[in-house]
Amino acid sequence: ESLFQNTPLAGPDKIFHLTAVYASDEFPQKINLGVGAYRDNDGKPWVLPVVKKAEDILINDPNRNHEYLPITGLPTFRAASAKLILGADSPAIKENRVSTCQTISGTGANHLGVLFLSRFYRNDVPVLISKPTWINHRDIVNNVGLEVREYAYYDPKTNGLDIDGFLKSLNDAPNGSIALLHACAHNPTGVDPSQEQWRKIADVIAAKGHYPFFDCAYQGFASGDLDRDAWAVRYFVERGFELLVCQSYSKNFGLYGQRTGCLTVVSKNADAAVKIESQIAKLQRAEVSNPPAYGARIVNLVLHDPKLYAEWNDNLRTMSSRIMDMRKQLYDKLIELGTPGTWNHIIDQIGMFSFTGLKPSQVQVLIQKYHIYLTDNGRISMAGLSTKNIDYFAKAVNDVVR
Ligand code: PMP
Repeated sequence: ESLFQNTPLAGPDKIFHLTAVYASDEFPQKINLGVGAYRDNDGKPWVLPVVKKAEDILINDPNRNHEYLPITGLPTFRAASAKLILGADSPAIKENRVSTCQTISGTGANHLGVLFLSRFYRNDVPVLISKPTWINHRDIVNNVGLEVREYAYYDPKTNGLDIDGFLKSLNDAPNGSIALLHACAHNPTGVDPSQEQWRKIADVIAAKGHYPFFDCAYQGFASGDLDRDAWAVRYFVERGFELLVCQSYSKNFGLYGQRTGCLTVVSKNADAAVKIESQIAKLQRAEVSNPPAYGARIVNLVLHDPKLYAEWNDNLRTMSSRIMDMRKQLYDKLIELGTPGTWNHIIDQIGMFSFTGLKPSQVQVLIQKYHIYLTDNGRISMAGLSTKNIDYFAKAVNDVVR
């Protein structure tokens, strides 16, 4: 008998499991719409051309080595990260009230963010997460001993935002709760608040003294415009909130496996910022000692070189416009086929994912009969569609909703 005989068996991660089943399927027209990674029109992973250039520069650098980074990561990368999300002329940066730490991508930033708050903010308030949200948020929050509470977000009747429910949930939560917000391209729904709705959300968060916790995994990837995708975060900073932002470079640089991210905390003054950074460094030291260097060096080079930066913006537009084009084509084909139901949400939603409104039973038919893989909540990764498989997909959807 092992000491761990009674350890309950944990189920497989839904998304990674789906990918494994897809991989073992031999049907030639199979489609994987589960995983949230960009694919080109041939269904292949895409190494951004600007990333290839940066890699060439790094590899040919005669001073290249594999020394440790500092505990909080590459200093120039951190500074550029804060500038990218907050804006080059952010008052918070000018006033030195920003603390940063390079993290194990967006996941690590979320973890370090809630860990820090659980120790130095409060641990007697819930973390408010949207219903639904990124599959990992709940576990990340629970892992540091904080509770989650869901706020209304998605309205299945309109396939859009339930703004009244959202505001009411924020209002009903205990004062001072931590409000986890998706900065842009909400995962899994693709539904974002409008600027006017963000203003109302900020009003309630201010009135209730909630702490805004932004998760930003898609800056630039969502609309192709880095500033537009950062609007909500910058608006909250402008309003004077203390807040934090988790940045991921998985999608917008295609650096998924390199685990490149940053945690940026905006506080009221420089004194608090220094203290915050010192404690975050201490937490990071005990967990990862220091973050991985490779991805951070690539991002750092691109963010500091105007030519590479311009090329990166081009690459971002390539990805976001292909996805928007797929939305349009899918919408057009469903309309052309006279598919029952309304499909405007496919073009209204933004980012990697679309919440189709397909029911679990319909999803099962897509998987079993059509070899099209997606999660049972009806979420599809738009990046899994291409001009080569979109007809097949639209016809399959048209069939299952009838
Ligand atoms: N937050 C959200 C909302 C996401 O969709 C993702 C990526 N799926 C992440 C965080 C973090 O991903 P990563 O750790 O690869 O940066």
